[in-house]
Amino acid sequence: MTDSRDAELGHALTALRARLERAAAAAGRDVAGIELLPVTKFFPASDVVALHRLGCTAFAESRDQEASAKVEEVGRILGPVPIRWHMVGRIQRNKARSVARWAYAAHSVDSAKVVAALDRSASEALDEGLRREPLRVYLQVSLDGDEARGGVDVDAVDRIDELCGAMDSAAALTFVGLMAVPPIGADPGESFARLQRERERVQTAYQQRIELSAGMSGDLEAAVQHGSTCVRVGTALLGARPLTSPEVVTPVTPSSQAPPEGSSQ
Ligand SMILES: *Cc1c(COP(=O)(O)O)cnc(C)c1O
Repeated sequence: MTDSRDAELGHALTALRARLERAAAAAGRDVAGIELLPVTKFFPASDVVALHRLGCTAFAESRDQEASAKVEEVGRILGPVPIRWHMVGRIQRNKARSVARWAYAAHSVDSAKVVAALDRSASEALDEGLRREPLRVYLQVSLDGDEARGGVDVDAVDRIDELCGAMDSAAALTFVGLMAVPPIGADPGESFARLQRERERVQTAYQQRIELSAGMSGDLEAAVQHGSTCVRVGTALLGARPLTSPEVVTPVTPSSQAPPEGSSQ
């Protein structure tokens, strides 16, 4: 059972790496400039361990509760090996403290309140020796302006500039770049082209290279074509998830009653 899962993951990883190489070649880019980030949400720690054995050293999760438990479990199994955990799901302010303790990077930051909470929490974690480096943060932008699905409206350039500036000047954060998920039903090529234009606009204000976290199982070629430096891949590597990820499809508003975390698993 475990052996066949290991073999399955091995084949999927080989195929995915080849696919990413083809996408890079088609875009005239060096594949070395594109991180392949496995998204392990809904999958067990044993899959993370198997992928680690296959050479993966970074993983992404989308819910704090599931992630912090998995990080601990993987740590118990593998011991103190360097693994970079990325938070790619919606960050509630009251989860910032926990996220700052396990995450190497957060891709889904989209408000001044969350920036402030993460900065405070990362600073605390640095002071307590629970992390060694500032938390790397991406600003999530919304490509259709529907902010209920997460992200700052890509046309709200003043707010984007303000939030990028807040991230860049926060002592315990490192501003890395922009992240987006294309709107459901939208053409990924057009969506990522819009994102790429926004990256170029933001870039003019910064010395460091502004990265782009874009592309998932279904659309990574289009994302690579438009300058993605990090593709976040779940399904194409680990298989279908038992349930659709709530973070990607369900609008979360402050007034809506969030289901208890972990209730779907
Ligand atoms: C789940 C998730 C992914 C991975 O999606 P797949 O289509 O399974 O590759 C990528 N990004 C985010 C933000 C996610 O929540």
